[in-house]
Amino acid sequence: QPMGTWTSEEIRDAVDEHVMLTWAPGKARHNVPIITHGEGVYVFDDKGKKYLDWTSQAVCSNIGYTVPDNVVEGTVRQMKELPFIYGGLGITEVRARLASLVSDILPGDLTGMVFPSSGSEANEAAIMCARRYTGKFKVINWYRSYHGGTTNSQQATGDFRRWFGGDNVPGFVKAFAPYPLFWDYAGDNEAERTQMALNMLEEQILNEGPDTIALIQFESVIRGGGVIMPPPGYMQGVRAICDKYDILMHCDEVMVGFGRTGKLFGFQNYEGVIPDIVTAAKGITSAILPLSMMACRKHIMDGFEDKPLGWGSTYQAHPVAMACAYENLKYMIKEDILGHVQELEPVFEDCMRTLTESHPSIKQYRHVGMFGCFDAHLPNGENPQLQHTAVHEAFVKYRMAYTENGLIGLLRAPHLHVAPPLTITKDELLDGFDRQDRALYALDEGLGY
Ligand code: PLP
Repeated sequence: QPMGTWTSEEIRDAVDEHVMLTWAPGKARHNVPIITHGEGVYVFDDKGKKYLDWTSQAVCSNIGYTVPDNVVEGTVRQMKELPFIYGGLGITEVRARLASLVSDILPGDLTGMVFPSSGSEANEAAIMCARRYTGKFKVINWYRSYHGGTTNSQQATGDFRRWFGGDNVPGFVKAFAPYPLFWDYAGDNEAERTQMALNMLEEQILNEGPDTIALIQFESVIRGGGVIMPPPGYMQGVRAICDKYDILMHCDEVMVGFGRTGKLFGFQNYEGVIPDIVTAAKGITSAILPLSMMACRKHIMDGFEDKPLGWGSTYQAHPVAMACAYENLKYMIKEDILGHVQELEPVFEDCMRTLTESHPSIKQYRHVGMFGCFDAHLPNGENPQLQHTAVHEAFVKYRMAYTENGLIGLLRAPHLHVAPPLTITKDELLDGFDRQDRALYALDEGLGY
């Protein structure tokens, strides 16, 4: 039978028998809709229901579901000309072009590139790169960050997803980064809190031993933990600490790279900060094909002229995925997607403020570019860290209302993220917030307001 001819029942039966989920228990597969096609910023299920993608899936489908002609044509052309060549056996024009393009749009001398398939792999490459370049071993990461599902990237992760790995991989040290939900403990004003956070980091480095630390690795804007941007001066302080102790600085841009925050890269929100290593994924192809990247500064690349990086994968520098990325980036530049995000940012802000003011279940909001997060009030002042161990029934009801109102997206209670495709129009954005507004009444009610 050709593809597209199975009934929903046939699909469900096969899924029940064979399909495992990853971050959710297997039986959750019954709550996941069968998605048949997508168009613009919408996907459709087998019953014809239309969903507005409210988080670009895993914050990756940045240009939505109608693939531009140049992306289709460039990707298919590469598939016809050369579907694959192993990265160590052949160099391709598309690899040279993509590496040059990404290097051109990155600030500073971030010129050395590898192109793995996933964000996790890019972060593995970054960890190996830092260890082998510096000859040191430890990596400092922030709590609440997420870096991936492979062994090292999972252990680098600062949230509950690390626990699945048993916390048993040596070499990863967790630090407290500034966190707006717990500001109170840290000082009276922003400047004091920033300095306090930097002092704590330096104190930690001194006690771990600066000569043992290869890398400080963090998300430029923490997503899962709630769209958290450190206060002014903090990133510059981290850069200075890295320089002082010969530690490499790595910004994980897997989620925010290529425009999500209204800057090409999230770290460009912190004036004057240029990391030593940058990783990105998702937005590089807008998730149309799997590809990621690790970029490092020129002197680091030069450090591997006489020795291998020591990390690799079969699909590193996959020509078809790179052609897709190259055309996707060309499309984003031609259509000025970054300008579009900046233009819609005040609308985004307006809608987030209005919803926060009108729903007692919402405590506060944060956003940058097209990346927003509401924090829900928890009943009885519960600690938001409970989010991962006990999801309050109210959030289950909210999720149902969210789906009924035609939204699809990730939910990480008590953080409610908003990160639609960057190509969304103003009317679609307003419509999305309208739908979320309606869904939030279920949360208000569920939390007893
Ligand atoms: N780093 C960050 C900041 C991410 O958001 C993610 C995925 O969500 C990853 C790494 C892992 O990327 P992947 O799922 O492509 O392996």
